[in-house]
Amino acid sequence: MPGTELFGAEERKEVNDVLETGIMIRYTNDHLRNNHFKARDFEAEVCKQTGAKYAHAVSSGSTAIATALAAAGIGAGDEVIVPPFTFIATIEAVLFVGALPVFAELDETLCLSAEGIKKAITSKTKGVCLVHMCGGMADMDPIMAVIKEHKLTLVEDAGQAYGSSYKGTSVGLFGKAGSFSFDFFKIATAGEGGVLITNDEATYKIADVYSDHGHDHIGTNRGMENHPLLGFNYRISELHAAVGLAQTRKVPFIRKKNQEHKAFLTKALSSTPGIQFAKVCDPAGDSATFLNILLPDTEAAKRCVDEMNKAGVGGFNYWFLNMYHFVNQWDHLKEMRTASRLPIEITGAPQDYKKLSLPKSQEVVGRLISFGIRCTWTEAEMTTLASRIAACVTKALSSVHA
Ligand SMILES: *Cc1c(COP(=O)(O)O)cnc(C)c1O
Repeated sequence: MPGTELFGAEERKEVNDVLETGIMIRYTNDHLRNNHFKARDFEAEVCKQTGAKYAHAVSSGSTAIATALAAAGIGAGDEVIVPPFTFIATIEAVLFVGALPVFAELDETLCLSAEGIKKAITSKTKGVCLVHMCGGMADMDPIMAVIKEHKLTLVEDAGQAYGSSYKGTSVGLFGKAGSFSFDFFKIATAGEGGVLITNDEATYKIADVYSDHGHDHIGTNRGMENHPLLGFNYRISELHAAVGLAQTRKVPFIRKKNQEHKAFLTKALSSTPGIQFAKVCDPAGDSATFLNILLPDTEAAKRCVDEMNKAGVGGFNYWFLNMYHFVNQWDHLKEMRTASRLPIEITGAPQDYKKLSLPKSQEVVGRLISFGIRCTWTEAEMTTLASRIAACVTKALSSVHA
């Protein structure tokens, strides 16, 4: 949780600016806010760091991806290709705009592969909701070739990849719109918050309007604004934006430290037999929030997890079994347990989610153990961690014959 590691005076200062005026909403009361516009400043900082022309802050990464899908024109009945390994918010966002998730295969990048996307395309496919997982990035060149060939709409859920780029372009800028999360577990946190980015003015304008009940934000009298579209309230508060602003300013530092620490651990572990690493398509563009190791197979990974639990090695995620990020755990989706009826329950699902055949994704996620990188680690701590990981892997692999 790098962002939360560095919570301090800078965050308190930004929050206090808001508390001193009491204007906690981003709109209205401009004469009372002592010139503090935290949501706007947060957006400007995200634009500066990502190179996006437009950024729009909202209440969460989930509402950011929902807004991105809507602004990209994805809605009822549209088939949207999604990965089976992501935070469930991606799938919920697709369902709740009325669209129909179609699961496709990922590869050792931990993201959808171009090949996986291609195989999942049908005549009803409208777009792809690509997720940049575990702090890294998808393999964009081949993916963009498929997107262009089939004229698909690309939306990127970069919920956990703020600070990542591919060949110089920030994740989130390859398609119509992209989203980031600034929840408590991300590289920078707003407490709760999300930001949508795009280079397309029309998409930005829809997002801006949609996430605030259709307000067009023209003029200075909110009550008299026009409402070109129906929308909803996905606004971020000034208090959250203030924290997000202070935290985001720290990302270049965090990212640099993360990269150094990831390189250190990678080097320390690379000579251990049985350890491979997930593919990072552009190491220079890695936000490096996770060190993702791949064991030879699922059984070896499970044994390694047991060894690490026995040895008290913490700070890792084994998504395949015990986290809420892999399709195997999504029983509510498979049984379509919903609070109230969704469009997919009327039109029918494009796949039987109980019988998905995704052998490659099962294999890769089964082998994957992810360690959260801390930007405050000392060299001694990393040396100890690496030797403990190596010992557990070695034990797990030798116990095959036990
Ligand atoms: C964290 C995350 C989200 C959701 O963000 P919230 O801010 O918690 O709503 C969406 N997608 C991915 C890939 C995430 O990791």
